[in-house]
Amino acid sequence: MLELQGIAVSPGVAIGKAIVFDREGYSIARCLVSRPEAQREWQRLVEAVSKAHEVLGARGKETTDSWGANLGGIFSAQQQLLLDPHVRSEMEHLIRDNLYAAEYAVSEVFAKYAAAFRKASSSFLAERAADVRDVERTLLEALTGKPTQTFAEIPPGSIVVSHDLTPGETASFDTEKVLALCTEAGGPGGHTAIVARGMEIPAVVGVGNFLHNIRSGDELIIDGHLGRIFVSPDAPTRERYLKRRIARESIVSELSELKDLPAVTSDGVHVELMANVEFPNETQACLARGADGVGLYRTEFLYLGHDKEPTEEDHFLAYQQVLRDMQGRPVVIRTLDLGADKMGMTRPVEPENNPFLGLRSIRLSLRNPALFRVQVRAILRAASAGNCRIMFPMVTTLDEFRSAKFLLRSVADDLTCEGIRIPSTLRVGMMVEVPAAVLMLDRFIEEIDFVSIGTNDLTQYTLAVDRSNVSVADLYQACDPAVLRLIKRTQEITSEHGKSTSVCGEMSNNPAHALLLVGMGIRSLSLAPSTIPVIKKAIRSVTLGQCEAMAWRALRLGTAREVEAFLMNQLAGLVPEIVLQA
Ligand code: PEP
Ligand code: MG
Repeated sequence: MLELQGIAVSPGVAIGKAIVFDREGYSIARCLVSRPEAQREWQRLVEAVSKAHEVLGARGKETTDSWGANLGGIFSAQQQLLLDPHVRSEMEHLIRDNLYAAEYAVSEVFAKYAAAFRKASSSFLAERAADVRDVERTLLEALTGKPTQTFAEIPPGSIVVSHDLTPGETASFDTEKVLALCTEAGGPGGHTAIVARGMEIPAVVGVGNFLHNIRSGDELIIDGHLGRIFVSPDAPTRERYLKRRIARESIVSELSELKDLPAVTSDGVHVELMANVEFPNETQACLARGADGVGLYRTEFLYLGHDKEPTEEDHFLAYQQVLRDMQGRPVVIRTLDLGADKMGMTRPVEPENNPFLGLRSIRLSLRNPALFRVQVRAILRAASAGNCRIMFPMVTTLDEFRSAKFLLRSVADDLTCEGIRIPSTLRVGMMVEVPAAVLMLDRFIEEIDFVSIGTNDLTQYTLAVDRSNVSVADLYQACDPAVLRLIKRTQEITSEHGKSTSVCGEMSNNPAHALLLVGMGIRSLSLAPSTIPVIKKAIRSVTLGQCEAMAWRALRLGTAREVEAFLMNQLAGLVPEIVLQA
């Protein structure tokens, strides 16, 4: 048995068979070999290279016959890449010296070249990454004698193991088949983690290099509470986790009894519990968990995992469905937050050096007014299907908010001329996710109807820590006193002006953090539907005074570590049954 530790990002326990994918999304069956096997492995690769060379030659001929020599030439270039002496010697080194199985050596070397091409500033070179992937796939097929499996062909009962996964890839998994996932890369605040939580599949990210220790078909246990992974678990571990899974199922069913009860403290203070959704069909989970509404609909997921841009009708139908399903409860539709780690197949942005500081979110929408107008038209057309609110993400300057609102007004005027009725009650808000927006909030406040604090990005931009980078994951702390002060200031300014503030970052999913936020004056939280019952339980178990005392103390501590330790201690005293769940 091998035990590994990563970052727990989506709770739950799964026991299943590993399916290992390389960096390019192809499954690889074998990883390491013994020293005596290495020579045979190298021989297998040499034979596969010549087989793949023939396959590419035949493809080239067929293409030339049908479409001419220009297109056929693509395959001659692929043949050259296959025979490139650098590529060959790197694969030989990995097999003979590092004892990699041939498939693993192929995937490592070709992934490196594909990544280098992708980073190239010239779009001609960047597009060559697709050729590298083609050659890799052809070579892997020659090695294994069968088509390479992709994410679309995962068998039931699988645990996906990969170097990294994009949010779009994660969203494309069939939850009937994928039991859990774990990755070498990824940080606690990345969108892959958020999607896994939304899909309710246990996930552990940021495990570091471990793919060579796992083969497809190995039995795995994923502990999404503590971030532990067990490869080929021994019988006692397996037994322990089977029991834990049963215990968790019984806690979940106990908590489900709270569904129709409000989230009120024991001294009667009501806290609104809204849900974060990425896909229209998640409304079922929202209703099943007793959500008061949708506090954050991440609409950019309409773009992820699809190779075509959604049309105005695609947008409209999705929004209409969510609004109708929520039966008059508030639904906050956030306009596109594309860019950085959320990039569709049709990239509206050239590759950037610092994508989280680049053309993402509202900046990208304002730079592409045609794309933005399509979405805003669809939201406004759908608005009368329910209780719709509209929110702009990552607003940093007043100019940005005004430009977005100007576009909204002009689209509304067009629609009115077309005879489409837009509810006069439509409220327009902004996300607070950048320290600049907090510092300027007293100027924004007259122009906005409501605020939602995105603590995932607020943490990233306040502490200068990339939310999806495993190397700095320990520095990514939503409870850092600097972040807490910004939240407090936001809450104070909005309440002075009678405007509502919600917190929709992942912080709201953590019971200790949620109680702290209530103590800081926050009366609306938006979180993953699956976490609503446990947060409701926490809120119903405490008084407002206890939450305020927690906040008073936490705001006077000096480091994130002190705050975290203090909060865990408080939670253990106030709601011990929740702590036992972990
Ligand atoms: C946030 O940043 O906290 C947030 C809710 O938005 P997202 O996670 O989609 O960036
Ligand atoms: Mg954000």
